[in-house]
Amino acid sequence: MSALPHDAAWRARAAKVIPGGMYGHQATTLLPDGFPQFFARAEGARLWDVDGRMFIDMMCGYGPNLFGYGCQKIDAAFQKQLYAGDCMTGPSAIMVELAEALTAMVTHADWAMFCKNGTDATTMAATVARAHTGKRKLLVARGAYHGAAPWCTPRPAGVLPEDRAHVLSFVYNDVNDLARAFTEAGDDVAGLFAAPFKHDAFQDQADVDPAYARACRAACNATGALLIVDDVRAGFRLARDCSWARVGVQPDLSAWGKAIANGHPISALLGAERARDAAASIYVTGSFWFAAAPMAAALATLRMIRETDYLERLETLGGRLRDGIAAQAARHGVPVRQTGPVQMPQILLGDDPDFRKGFHWARVALDHGLYVHPWHNMFLNAAMTDADIDAALAATDAAFAAVAKNGASLPPVPQLRGLFA
Ligand code: PMP
Repeated sequence: MSALPHDAAWRARAAKVIPGGMYGHQATTLLPDGFPQFFARAEGARLWDVDGRMFIDMMCGYGPNLFGYGCQKIDAAFQKQLYAGDCMTGPSAIMVELAEALTAMVTHADWAMFCKNGTDATTMAATVARAHTGKRKLLVARGAYHGAAPWCTPRPAGVLPEDRAHVLSFVYNDVNDLARAFTEAGDDVAGLFAAPFKHDAFQDQADVDPAYARACRAACNATGALLIVDDVRAGFRLARDCSWARVGVQPDLSAWGKAIANGHPISALLGAERARDAAASIYVTGSFWFAAAPMAAALATLRMIRETDYLERLETLGGRLRDGIAAQAARHGVPVRQTGPVQMPQILLGDDPDFRKGFHWARVALDHGLYVHPWHNMFLNAAMTDADIDAALAATDAAFAAVAKNGASLPPVPQLRGLFA
């Protein structure tokens, strides 16, 4: 553990009152020593930890930060609605405007329902698919993350075999294995979950093979199952539409969250006409699902998505980062694999089967003011500037130099044991 006084003190207090000290993806026990557990402030592209260290943040809150932390335009809309009425006995009419805005932007969508987290939206998608088809099986690519409910959480503790009894897996981008899964499921497939691209932790990312996306659509057409694109992580970072619009495949349902309100808590399930009756038939709700201020923030975020060149800028910035890192890696003789879209990069070091080099690389980058992740994809945001990319590259240069120097003598990272294949 680093000796950073405030973070260490808060961790000690957390250990007494929060199970495990922290849970889920926020547990920094799976990050290199020295990574902060607690943050004090965030603005634009930057984060400050409780010890006052500032970082350029390549994680963007694990995705929600699309236009910068504290984006003035979005937060002004949020605040205005907050003071007008946020938690009320029923929704604000903004809910209708938000549904209109999303269905106008997302080609396949004719209706929208709102919830809080990505897991709410993916779980609701599964329920709609089962209500629509009267069938049971959900087909999910092996290793794909769709949330933390019993049917999909990656850890087995507390989960019954029954919770997963009707979840079948197959290999992403593998048309033959997809066909095998459909055969195995018999005439009982309710829904097929599709990640927009392969963005699994601990491994290289892979863009979607358009032939595979078309095969998913065809198999659902043939069986009556609903095709569900889980755009919770990638939504609006690849396209101003559903991410599979890029390959010309329209799902029946799509799940959204994270970036749609630039960090304000709201998620959504969007659907095509054919699934409308099923969506109307299920009982889903939540005390906070109708809060008006996050809906106002989402409306403002969608306006910026439509009216700014944020996406093109993310691609330009991401391209600069990728090229810069490739040049540094070559110069330092440290092989690197950079995969996935440049605005959602996965950066893994070569010849690093147990991530010890990646841990060292991330730790040295952190010490130089750049918060990077050693095994999860990262995110760019539109508040980043060319100067931020330069600063990020200065940090990664130091990190590559450190790996080149120390790579042969690094200790293993026991905390990751058993978590990757
Ligand atoms: N689907 C995908 C692809 C995700 O990346 C995530 C969150 N990382 C979820 C679903 C679940 O979202 P949430 O954590 O908001 O429940």
